[in-house]
Amino acid sequence: PSGQYDCDMLVLGAGPGGYSAAFRAADLGMKTILVERYASLGGVCLNVGCIPSKALLHVAAVMDEVSHMDTLGITFGKPQVDLDKLRAHKTKVVGKLTGGLAAMAKMRKVTIVRGYGSFVDPHTIEVEETTGTGQDKTGTKKKISFRNCIIAAGSQAVRLPFMPDDPRVVDSTGALELRGQPKKMLILGGGIIGLEMGTVYSTLGARLDVVEMLDGLMQGADRDLVRVWQKMNTPRFDNIMLKTKTVGAEATKDGILVKFEGEQAPKEPQLYDLVLQAVGRSPNGKKIGAEKAGVTVSDRGFIPVDIQMRTNVPHIFAIGDIVGQPMLAHKAVHEAHVAAEAAMGEKSAFNARVIPSVAYTDPEVAWVGLTEDQAKAQGIAIKKGHFPWTASGRAIANTRDEGFTKLLFDAETHRILGGGIVGTHAGDMIGEVALAIEMGADEIDIGKTIHPHPTLGESIGMAAEIAHGTCTDVP
Ligand code: FAD
Repeated sequence: PSGQYDCDMLVLGAGPGGYSAAFRAADLGMKTILVERYASLGGVCLNVGCIPSKALLHVAAVMDEVSHMDTLGITFGKPQVDLDKLRAHKTKVVGKLTGGLAAMAKMRKVTIVRGYGSFVDPHTIEVEETTGTGQDKTGTKKKISFRNCIIAAGSQAVRLPFMPDDPRVVDSTGALELRGQPKKMLILGGGIIGLEMGTVYSTLGARLDVVEMLDGLMQGADRDLVRVWQKMNTPRFDNIMLKTKTVGAEATKDGILVKFEGEQAPKEPQLYDLVLQAVGRSPNGKKIGAEKAGVTVSDRGFIPVDIQMRTNVPHIFAIGDIVGQPMLAHKAVHEAHVAAEAAMGEKSAFNARVIPSVAYTDPEVAWVGLTEDQAKAQGIAIKKGHFPWTASGRAIANTRDEGFTKLLFDAETHRILGGGIVGTHAGDMIGEVALAIEMGADEIDIGKTIHPHPTLGESIGMAAEIAHGTCTDVP
């Protein structure tokens, strides 16, 4: 019973964290209000992140696949791209999912309040109504009091201060709008989001440049995984500039003229039809009046929480991108469940051993747990099982045998510590490795589990057998 308050639980933000928290809170019997500034539920992930990017990446993967079929004796015509139809497809995919969320909220009697929320005190939030599909404020405000609150206000793309305000300079949201087919595109930042969007635009006909301050693309993944991706993808790029940064840009009639500095910087400024800023995301912690509720926010805008996702104010929780890295939807959802349950007094805690990462590029790159680079840096003795897909019947049949699966085990206990997969569908397979780590499986557990043949997933069992010394199928 909410008693003196308008609700038992107020959730601020309806992304994967927010809607999951609201649904769990309602399922546990709390009177729940979900506040969201945009017309559509689902946050970054459903509207301008995970889902629309994958809708476009699917199309790109099919186009790439078909273009290689001539070597197998099948020839298709040159693809004709109808951008309006492609955009409509993406919008339909997003609409299906966000519409589903609205129905699920209704079914659970979660009240949705449209508007921009800001704390007034530790038990009250003020919501300024917003209209249209965006967040245009109407000036109409109302106060909502709550017994508990979960902050799930997410993050937004970082903009470089010297980038001109020009439609040819976009962040991931702008890139997903697919306004045209640029001939020459610059990706600022060699992380997953930039490389995924680059894959889409390159398949649609753009030549790519990428600039990255660090010494390699796709930081976080083992270099041997990235090498396979890079070998396959080098033809898409004119320039891969590492240890290099962008230091200036100017909008000209012919394009965006960008200056670089660093080890692999071109001497002259380069001209681009489209510049994608994918240099990271910053949390929205400083935009919600958190100080009025007494909630601590770090200098960078993150909200510190304990393992129950509680902020320093015990009845206010925070989850998702706003609490820290990795900024991933599956992490947000997990934290959401913990926070809602903890608010109900349950002994839930966030104690995942591992959180998998996936680049949905072509080939896909997926990894979880300890990487080989980390094991080396930490001086941990590991045993490795490396299964090349040139020995996988399925990969060969698919004409995609460039990948490999590797598993890392503790040399003493033989328990699995981590794994990495590069190849088609790697993202769909990495969950098994995550499960193995959570269950404390060893080489024998994984190697003796019968995997279906012929599948790419078989490679996980084989890699474990290789580490154990019992695989006879690989030369
Ligand atoms: P968000 O999704 O950011 O949601 C926060 C919500 O809060 C938003 O709807 C916002 O409008 C609302 N809000 C904020 N402040 C207020 C306020 N004051 N009042 C009212 N409402 C407010 N992750 C993956 O796991 N897999 C992927 O494949 C993947 N792909 C991505 C691709 C792109 C292009 C991008 C940008 C991100 C991708 N991500 C992916 C990351 C993923 O989108 C985020 O980790 C996830 O959305 C975080 O969820 P969240 O609930 O913390 O916040």
